[in-house]
Parts: sequence; C-alpha cells; structure tokens
Amino acid sequence: MTIADDINPISPLAMTREQFVAACAQLGVGSGRAKTGYAKVYRQGIAHAQPAKITVPPIVKRLEEQTPEGLTIKFVQRLPNDNHQLAHKGIDFDDIESVIIPMIGRSTRKTHTLCVSSQVGCAMGCGFCETAQMGLIRSLTAEEIVAQWWAAKHIEGIHIDNIVFMGMGEPLDNLDEVFRAIECLTDRAGAAIPMSAITISTVGRVDGLRRIKQQVQTHGWRKLGLALSLNAPNDQVRDELMPLNKKWNMQGLQDILVELREVRGGRKIMIEYVLIPGVNNASEHAAQVAEWMKPFMKGTIAAGKKRGHGGLLNIIPYNPIRNSPWPAPTEAQVEEFVGWLMNHGIFVNRRRTKGRSTMAACGQLGTEEIRKRNFVPLTTNQECND
Ligand code: SF4
Repeated sequence: MTIADDINPISPLAMTREQFVAACAQLGVGSGRAKTGYAKVYRQGIAHAQPAKITVPPIVKRLEEQTPEGLTIKFVQRLPNDNHQLAHKGIDFDDIESVIIPMIGRSTRKTHTLCVSSQVGCAMGCGFCETAQMGLIRSLTAEEIVAQWWAAKHIEGIHIDNIVFMGMGEPLDNLDEVFRAIECLTDRAGAAIPMSAITISTVGRVDGLRRIKQQVQTHGWRKLGLALSLNAPNDQVRDELMPLNKKWNMQGLQDILVELREVRGGRKIMIEYVLIPGVNNASEHAAQVAEWMKPFMKGTIAAGKKRGHGGLLNIIPYNPIRNSPWPAPTEAQVEEFVGWLMNHGIFVNRRRTKGRSTMAACGQLGTEEIRKRNFVPLTTNQECND
C-alpha cells in the first residue's frame, strides 16, 4: 500500500491544483499523485481517486424543457443541513437549483451556460422573485458552488462553456466563497472555464461592487463578466420592487459601474431589465432608462457598432411568480418598449424567457418544499462593512 492509498482523502472541489498539491504535500503525498487525483476528479469525473475524494450532493429532482436552441435542464441538488432551527421542523436538508441553458451564438455553434446558485434562498426581497419568498436560509460554500458545475458536467454529461451566478441568492452577499469558487473553476488544470466566460450578477450591493473593483485589478480577473439587475427606470419604482435600492440608489450604482467599466478596460456590463406590465413599461420609463444608460453607451451607436463597449440592456419579459399581482407582458408590450429604447439610441437585446414551464428563468428559482421555510426575516437593510 502506498502513502496515497493510506491517507484520509482530501476534497479538491474548492481548491486550485496548486492548493491541492500543497495540501497533499502536508500529508506526505507527492505532487505527481496529487496532480493525477486532481485531474481524475475534474477531467474524468471520478469522485474518488486517491488522494482526492469528493462528495457531490445528489440530484433529487430534474426538469427539462425543449426550447428552439435545445434542451434546458433544471436540476435540484440536496445538501445535508445540520441547522437545529430547521431540525425541529423535521427539515434536515437544503435544496439548491441550477439550470443548464443551451444557446446558439452568432457563429451558430451551440454552447451551454450553467446558471448556479450562491445561496439557499435570498435576503434581498425583490418583489418579482420566487426565491425572495423563501428568505435567506444560508450561504453556500465554494465547494457547494463548484459541485454544481461537477454535477452538470459529470452527472448530466454536458460540457459547460459559460457560468452565470444568476440562480438562487445574491452572489455579492457571499463574495468570499464566490471568489474562491471562481478561482477554482478557472484553473486550467481543472474545470478550465475562462474568466471571460464567468459572469456575476447582482441586484446592486455597492459594497460588493467595490470589492469586485479591487478584485478585477488583480492578475487573471480583469475579464470577469458583470451583470446588474436594474429592473426599474427610477428610484421610486426601484425602491418598491427591490428594497436594497433604499440603501444603494441608482445614482450610486451608476457611479460604481462607471468606475468598474474604467478598470475593466471598457468591457461591457450587462444590464438586466425584467419588464413588468403596469410597473416599469411606460414610454417615460424607457426615456428614464435610456438616460441612466447613457454613460455606458458611449461610442456604441455613434460609432455605428452593433455591440456596446460599456453596457448592453437585456429586456426580460416577466415570468409571473405564484400569487403574482402582475401578469406577463404581451409580445406587443415587449416590442413597444424595446422600440422606444432603440429610438433613444440604446442597444437592446430581447431575452427569451427560457424555462418558463420549469420555473427556471431569472428570479424564478425556489422549490415547492423549501419555499415553505421562510423563517428568516428579510434583511434588505443589512449593514455593509465599508
Ligand atoms: S432577484 Fe436575485 S437578489 Fe433579488 S430576491 Fe431574487 S435571488 Fe435574491
């Protein structure tokens, strides 16, 4: 028996290869054995390859929806939960959801984007969001985030090209673990997802955006993608829809995003806008959104280019959540709003709501079982550390 067979194996799921080799060295395992174990876990999907061993939460539910681009798959993983508050309610697990979304790009090549969760539930309380109804149950560890990629790649068997942090939770509420997960997912010896193919989406925690501003100035992070869920034309509507706006308003958001645009060398920021009839879809709303977008659109239309340098507005038709006070917009309402924005010189993408029937579209995650666990008060006015 070799030393590597003899030791308690280590999970490399939240480690770069370098970190894993260092951890193995502490146990007397040579770098060759460590590198082989690491590669087997990440590249071949072998869960136990001494000195590496991972425990990936099982997939307990799976939903598919056929779309014109291919099959959208939502899967639910069940994590153990030792929270005593929950135990007395007879709940000893946490469910998290991930979605694999097929896309056909301009080159007609089909790619797959994995939408990952960063928390179980969410504390942000956005009015249009299914997950918000759960409250925050807990944040995920980096290992649990990377395990979603592993399940998509090695259980579902789908090569993942892009990763977006748009599932359950606000990633900027769990930034240490999200950064650690990204560091691991981008390791060329492991998952090897390019930094430019990873996007963090936020509802606008300015303290977190300031940390991202620092992070993207470190080696290898400059191309990290960034998306903002804007969803409102002005502070009055945004305060109503997204309580976080009372702490960090649209002007503050615009300021930090302009700074981020500069330090990221002008790379574009995706601005998401869920279109809700009777709430944010009037012609004056389009004018206000266009005004707010101005600093990000410089050089776009004037230079006659199809893609913006600084910002790109995605219009997402609202998917009604359960007991929703609002309906979905009609096709005509979406077209009308997009037309107004374009007349204001804004380059707009109209996003199809993939996964309407699997409840997998943006802001629509949250399972039937775990939605019953809304025991944590919403904390939208939480303190920031800056
Ligand atoms: S939209 Fe995102 S940030 Fe807002 S409540 Fe839902 S999961 Fe949380």
